Formats: sequence, structure tokens, C-alpha cells
Amino acid sequence: MELWYTEQHTEYVRFSIKVDKHLYSGQSEYQRIDVFEAKEFGTFFTLDGLMMVTEKDEFIYHDMIVHVPMATNLGIKKVLVIGAGDGGTIRELTRYQTIETIDMVEIDKMVVEVCRKYLPQTACRLDDPRVNIFYEDGLRFIRAKENYYDLIIVDSTDPFGPGEGLFTKEFYGSCYKALKQDGILVNQHENPYYEIYASSMQRAHQRIMEFFPICRVYQAHIPTYPSGHWLFGFASKKFDPLNLDEKAWHSLGLKTKYYNTDIHKGSFALPTYVQELLAGDK
Ligand code: SAM
Repeated sequence: MELWYTEQHTEYVRFSIKVDKHLYSGQSEYQRIDVFEAKEFGTFFTLDGLMMVTEKDEFIYHDMIVHVPMATNLGIKKVLVIGAGDGGTIRELTRYQTIETIDMVEIDKMVVEVCRKYLPQTACRLDDPRVNIFYEDGLRFIRAKENYYDLIIVDSTDPFGPGEGLFTKEFYGSCYKALKQDGILVNQHENPYYEIYASSMQRAHQRIMEFFPICRVYQAHIPTYPSGHWLFGFASKKFDPLNLDEKAWHSLGLKTKYYNTDIHKGSFALPTYVQELLAGDK
């Protein structure tokens, strides 16, 4: 008998991965958590039947969500990460010795526990002494913060279920307030290809633009996410990601598998239909 993981990407589109073993299944207070083992993608985990991380392609997402803002401002010292229970974003951040503190706010402790056990590839740096983990709702946590962080990374689930509040106007306003004068906000921005995701991406972009003077969107190819075409939002009070000091980033000597400074610049060049969606033309 063959075992397949199948995800419904739209009402009419499904994506499947042949599975060798269903390693774990559990229900937390917030969501259903599953871990699978597969030949093509290695170990992967899902929340409420939606793909979060696979061993094979996680490097793309984590490189792009971390190195793009970090290379834009090498002076970043205080970082807030919201979501990110698998630890991949933290792993990449801890490679920068210049960072002093990383506050990680994950609503679901069970995600972290499951990832520590089954996904050490991403969870491996959660015990770095600079990392403080708070098990709280990111929307509530950030309300009390003011003029404190250099960088906020929103590594959340989609805007349904517990992640919904992280796509609201209130949340983006709180992020603006929690950031210093030259702060940067990066968020996972969904895919532009399928209508249901594209409309949340469009809404999120319009809301972020109400607060931040510099708002850009960049892209990456992530094979296991719906359509494979994924966007990230880059909002900033001062730093423009296109004014990149390439030499300074190279001098750090960080070895990355997806990110490089050419990809950094090129990832902000968007297809025309995406530009039109962002401009609210459709
Ligand atoms: N890379 C993934 C993706 O885009 O599919 C997201 C990774 S990470 C596993 C997302 C995490 O966000 C989940 O562990 C989830 O529990 C957490 N999360 C969802 N809503 C949250 C909230 N309101 N506050 C804090 N964390 C939240």
C-alpha cells in the first residue's frame, strides 16, 4: 500500500508527496501537528494539513527571510521573531555574531517541542544564549513594545487560524511602534498565483504601506509551498534593501546555499502581474 501526503492548494489543485513514514501526529491547543518522512523532501512537518518546513527546501525560505534584511543593515542588534517554531529562522540569525538578542514569540509550545525532536536541522540553535523564547500570541506580545527592535521577522502561518491576527492593521501598527527609528519589518507574504493567497498578500501589502515609508516585496522559488512562488514583504523606516553594501556582507564570510547578493538584488524584480496586484490594480 502506498502512503501519500496530499495538500489542497486550491479547491481544484492538489499537491502530493509520497511518504515513507508518518512519524508523529498530535493536536495542540491551537492546531494539528504532523511529521512525515519522505524520500524526495526528507522529514517534513505540517500544521492543520498545510506544509510548514521540509528538510530539502527549508534553506530557501530561511535564507531569504533572514539574510535579505540582515545584509541590508549589518548594524542590527535586537531582533524579534514572531512564529518560527521550527527554529530555521533562528538558526540563520544566530550566524551573525553582531546580533545581541533574539526574542522569539511562538504561540504553540508543542510546535517547538515536536521540531526539537524531529527536525534538529532547523531547531538546532534554539538554545543559543542570545535567544529568549516566549510562548505567547505575537499580536499581544508586541502591543507593549516601543522603539526597541532593529528588526522584526514575522515567520507565521497563513492568515487563517492562530496566524490571522498577524495580518491585521493593528499588528502592523504595533510593529511600526516596536521598531527603532531605522527599523525593518520582514514578513512571509504568501503567494501571488492562487487567488485566495493573492488577495491576502494584496491586503497585507496595502496595510503595511499605511505605516512604513519604504515598502518592497521580494520573491523566491519554494517548491513545496502553493504554486512554488513565494513572496516576502520588506517594510522599513530608513534602509532601502536595494542600497546594498555587498562588500560588507561578503566580509562576514557567511556561506549560504540560496542567498547571495545577486539574488538579493534580483529578488525585488517582480513579474508584471505581481506589480499590478501590489499596486491594487486587480
Ligand atoms: N515557514 C512556515 C510557512 O510559511 O509555512 C511558517 C513556519 S512557523 C512553523 C509558523 C509558526 O507560527 C507556527 O509554529 C505557529 O504556531 C506560529 N504562529 C501562528 N500564529 C501565531 C501567533 N499569533 N503568534 C505567535 N506565533 C504564531
